[in-house]
Amino acid sequence: MHEIIVNLHMHTRYSDGSGTHKDIAQAAMQTGLDAVIVTDHNVLVQGVEGYYRFARDPSTPLRTSRVLLLVGQEVHDQDRDPQKNHLLVFNANRDLSTLADDPQTLINGVRDAGGICFMAHPKDPEAPAFHETDISWEDWSVQNYTGIELWNGLSELKTIVPTKLHGLFYAFFPQFIGHHPIPETLSRWDELLSHGRPVVAIGGSDAHAMHMRMGPLQRVIFPYLFHFKTVNTHVFIPESLTGDVSTDKKMIYDALAAGHCFVAYDLPASTRGFTFKAKGLGQSAIMGDTLPAKGGVTLQAHLPARAEIHMIKDGQRISVWKNSQVCTHTATEPGVYRVEVYRNYLGKKRGWIYSNPIYVR
Ligand SMILES: [Zn+2]
Ligand SMILES: [Zn+2]
Repeated sequence: MHEIIVNLHMHTRYSDGSGTHKDIAQAAMQTGLDAVIVTDHNVLVQGVEGYYRFARDPSTPLRTSRVLLLVGQEVHDQDRDPQKNHLLVFNANRDLSTLADDPQTLINGVRDAGGICFMAHPKDPEAPAFHETDISWEDWSVQNYTGIELWNGLSELKTIVPTKLHGLFYAFFPQFIGHHPIPETLSRWDELLSHGRPVVAIGGSDAHAMHMRMGPLQRVIFPYLFHFKTVNTHVFIPESLTGDVSTDKKMIYDALAAGHCFVAYDLPASTRGFTFKAKGLGQSAIMGDTLPAKGGVTLQAHLPARAEIHMIKDGQRISVWKNSQVCTHTATEPGVYRVEVYRNYLGKKRGWIYSNPIYVR
């Protein structure tokens, strides 16, 4: 398996972002990402998908580097008040925004169009100081979606800006924003997992590169470059990216659909190298896979550096390893097992890694 770093969920001038697809590709390359997935609101932008190549160093123009830019969309019903139920749609063969008024019809449409979908910012509270309304996911009766966006950079910001002054502070010091996914989203995920079917977690930046004006102050806040260093989705694909768009696109979307990925906060330190695997009787599994419980299953997580590892089974914390780089747990009974990793950064314990589960049945 080959690990690639993907930043997904972001906006350009085609909706409410300030940059172009090329700006995004350039920022992604500068940050060392392998791929980005752009998701403008209610529009499937055509003709921009592909590999973008940039000179790595102006003095040696032949040394180029590339980044894969894919295009999905974020669909919601613009006539609904408030505008809840945002859905991230990837790999669909057509624009699905006309189905926005009913979430289940939309999800069925995504499946019919060969796509996968994730509930965007499932909990997205109001931020009255900025006249921002609550745009959480509301319709929890829906079926057949792929998963949820566990950690969304912007939703989290809305939880920590009770006043305009707080907003101003984070605009200038965005490295203090990231703490962990919103706790209600984490517990909602565990609840959904308890219903017995896989629910894939992804992390989205929701990057807009917004222009801010406050009196004499003008600034692009949370530029793409910053977002791409923060909440990423690390994806495991069967072989390294080939450079062929359709081959690589298929590998990435197949892996996301299978949950072969983890949610990472890469700002404190790179999470590259994290693995969570399991071995059973003659079978092995990675995140997203299922193994039979019979005969026992050994679960093991490896970190790229020492940190605090929590093993979660069916939503319950069953073990904590402090200051460790490896942890092992022997599972003798069925359950949904996942790992959370925390480390200290800027004076606080912050979430660093949220694995997708291994399903022991
Ligand atoms: Zn949204
Ligand atoms: Zn968005």
